[in-house]
Amino acid sequence: MTQEKKAIVVGGGLVGTLWAIFLARRGYTVDVYESRGDMRQLGYSGGRSINLAMSERGWRAVRQAGIEDTIRKVAIPMEGRMLHNLSGDLAFQPYGEQGQAIYSVSRGGLNLELLRIADSFDQVRFHFNHRCRNIDPDRNAILFEDTQTGMRLEASAPLIFGADGAFSAVRNSLQKRPRFNFSQEYLDYAYKELCILPGPDGRHVMNAQALHIWPRGNFMLIALPNTDGSFTCTLFLPFEGPEAFEHLHTDEAIMSFFERNFPDAIPLMPALLEDFHSNPTSALATIRCSPWHSGQGILLLGDAAHAIVPFFGQGMNAGFEDCTLLDQMMDDYQEDWQQILPAFSHTRPKDANAIADLALANFIEMRDLVADPAFLLRKKIAALLHQKFGDDFLPMYSMVSFGHVPYSQALAEGKAQDQLLDRILALEDIEHNWASNPMVISLYQEWQQGR
Ligand code: FAD
Repeated sequence: MTQEKKAIVVGGGLVGTLWAIFLARRGYTVDVYESRGDMRQLGYSGGRSINLAMSERGWRAVRQAGIEDTIRKVAIPMEGRMLHNLSGDLAFQPYGEQGQAIYSVSRGGLNLELLRIADSFDQVRFHFNHRCRNIDPDRNAILFEDTQTGMRLEASAPLIFGADGAFSAVRNSLQKRPRFNFSQEYLDYAYKELCILPGPDGRHVMNAQALHIWPRGNFMLIALPNTDGSFTCTLFLPFEGPEAFEHLHTDEAIMSFFERNFPDAIPLMPALLEDFHSNPTSALATIRCSPWHSGQGILLLGDAAHAIVPFFGQGMNAGFEDCTLLDQMMDDYQEDWQQILPAFSHTRPKDANAIADLALANFIEMRDLVADPAFLLRKKIAALLHQKFGDDFLPMYSMVSFGHVPYSQALAEGKAQDQLLDRILALEDIEHNWASNPMVISLYQEWQQGR
């Protein structure tokens, strides 16, 4: 058992700062090393999505860390998807039952709040402008570089947590050890952030209680509300192909692409061309690795352990859930880290892999299926079964976004439900009689009995 309650957290992003709070609340001395400068002075310079969807797994973590109220104040509930078709018609699809929502939160605002709270503990120290270069797992030692002076320094602690994001330097060092498994898979798609400005009265120009989607088959535009009346939009588009970033270099090409695909969005985006040219075109990858622990006291957390594509809005939520689960394990194993680290590293990756798969599948749902009548019928029947049988038939989206069942269980349950829904959708004339056809219930009962 590790006696000294002392830890280093590499990375002061969303997961690193939250985890520092959890540790501090348990009386640990925590040194957080962050490669960027202090955002309290410099502002947030994340370079990635301006806002994020936070769902129940994220809320549970901030609740457990005692900071839910502060975050709630700046969170905007999104109760469903608002679909924009080519002619500008809108269709609303609720995410769950009445009152259930996912929340748009500002990445910078959330990170700043977590940093402030972490820093309010006497035993948490932040070391900004310190980039981890590599670690020596045999000695639990880390080599840092001061990015302002170029000076190098070594630090060590009985516990080291690598929360340094998708391109983790901690993970990089572990990768050089035998039997470390690693895979990184890029999508053929990139994303670019754009902006819908507030109206002249400073208010949102579209319904702010929804996540807006312009589904266009193999690409899409989405928009999430911000508290200042604007929306942050993200265009997900192939790098190459008939409709692709490779063709969008001139003002004419960009405008013609938007006129063809998102005509109703153009008047809402007065800075479209400027944003398009100045914002980066960024790649999207899924990163999987194992084991997440090494030596006596090193553990990867958040994106450093499991980076996923953003289409289920679960990357941060999954990283926050890492913190909740580890905190729970501290009780279960009386803070014996020699048991906690292998136990976490053994049990959690299957759930990270499941949400990685679900996130990839949800891209197809968002960009294409949401506009497909057969898919919508499937959703309606799923909602009907949930209405009749409650939690015995909980739609997979609800399990992931509004509950806490392990992601792997949600994935398995979703596959089983799909088999039932396939059989129901094969019934004759189901598109007209789905609400009254007694076979829907019979097939459900047969399916339940067979489980
Ligand atoms: P990060 O947020 O990447 O933080 C890592 C920190 O480590 C950073 O501060 C970085 O500066 C620092 N660092 C990096 N290298 C070093 C080093 N060598 N030494 C010291 N410090 C270092 N998730 C959701 O839940 N909902 C969403 O709606 C959502 N939308 C997304 C949209 C997009 C376009 C993208 C790209 C991601 C989205 N995500 C979403 C995922 C979410 O952003 C990540 O899962 C989350 O940021 C992971 O947090 P983290 O702390 O593990 O890593």
